[in-house]
Amino acid sequence: MPTHFTIPKTQRVAIIEETGGSIVIKNDWPVKTQAELAPGECLVKMEATGCCHTDLHAALGDWPLKANIPLIGGHEGAGIVVAIGDNTANSPVALGDRVGIKWLADSCLNCEDCRNGREQTCLDAKLSGFNVDGTFSEYAVSFVNHVTPIPDGFPSDEAASILCAGVTVYRAIKYSQTNAGNWIVIPGAGGGLGHLAIQYAKVRGLRVIAIDSGEEKKELCKKLGADVWIDFRESKDIVADVKAATDGLGAHSAVVTAASSSGYTQAVDYLRNGGTLMAVGLPGEAKLEASIFFTVFKSISILGSYVGNRQDAREAMDIAARGEVKVHYVCKEIEELKDVYEGMKEGKVAGRIVFDLTK
Ligand code: NAD
Ligand code: ZN
Repeated sequence: MPTHFTIPKTQRVAIIEETGGSIVIKNDWPVKTQAELAPGECLVKMEATGCCHTDLHAALGDWPLKANIPLIGGHEGAGIVVAIGDNTANSPVALGDRVGIKWLADSCLNCEDCRNGREQTCLDAKLSGFNVDGTFSEYAVSFVNHVTPIPDGFPSDEAASILCAGVTVYRAIKYSQTNAGNWIVIPGAGGGLGHLAIQYAKVRGLRVIAIDSGEEKKELCKKLGADVWIDFRESKDIVADVKAATDGLGAHSAVVTAASSSGYTQAVDYLRNGGTLMAVGLPGEAKLEASIFFTVFKSISILGSYVGNRQDAREAMDIAARGEVKVHYVCKEIEELKDVYEGMKEGKVAGRIVFDLTK
């Protein structure tokens, strides 16, 4: 494995200069030198990065929390460690290792949240492409303790989207209080998170009701193993459709991966008694509206699920590297980021868009 790398002084990056979605490509952005890296930091030569709907929220500024703008977005990156900061103690990764950069770039590892394995809610969390520069760049600074090793033989363009979409839905399904044979509903099933959720659910032996819209997403969801398809734009009654597919009782769980509040509205109604709603999609301002009476009367659990910790990332990566979950993606150039955001706003992206950063 090579341990010496020639690192250029400048690089190409996609940068958000102001809130509202303006993206500028710069070809002369400085690359941090090895001497400039702090202890615990590493420089990753990016090979591929996925584009998550969260990047669009960050660029638009439509969340109650705002990104540190100007900022390089992106948090589904895969690449090679080409430098590590001096005085980094006990690094779990070495020069030449291929690693992934996820949304949770770093956490303190010592607070109560980190000790409980909920590293993502650490008060000192560094978030790639949100409060620290992310992966829409040829070189990204990340953190040795939190980068995720990518197994040999698992290509970077396939691995990239496991770092956010994959780990997020893997964890949400893990805590969805379901057993093999149970029914799980996935609103948003044809999108980046959703199409992976179908597959992670099938790995756990669940039966999947995919909800999204359009012929392309229908074909994708069916191909990936969805047992039932519901088009949310065509269905006259989603609750009735889910109940009809589940012996009239409703589903055991719903993992909502839609970016809009509409994906949430019927969920408590189509869950069966004891069912669990996993809130994953992140519309910025919407309130979760559910009947208090039926939430109590049906013993429904409503849980928020936010990305995943280092172990979740390794588990999600391992399943995908073994070929049990496959990212459905189209490769594009980073210059096309603006158009990709437009497509995403209109719900036109089936699966993921991945940018090839090796060219
Ligand atoms: P995406 O745009 O790729 O997919 C969203 C899908 O939802 C689209 O296919 C769209 O057609 C579908 N959809 C919209 N309205 C719907 C409805 N009413 N019913 C069913 N489907 C509907 O987006 P993505 O990258 O998969 O991200 C989805 C959301 O998840 C975003 O809000 C993102 O910020 C959020 N997210 C959350 C976490 C977390 O940790 N909880 C992590 C990553 C992303
Ligand atoms: Zn994401």
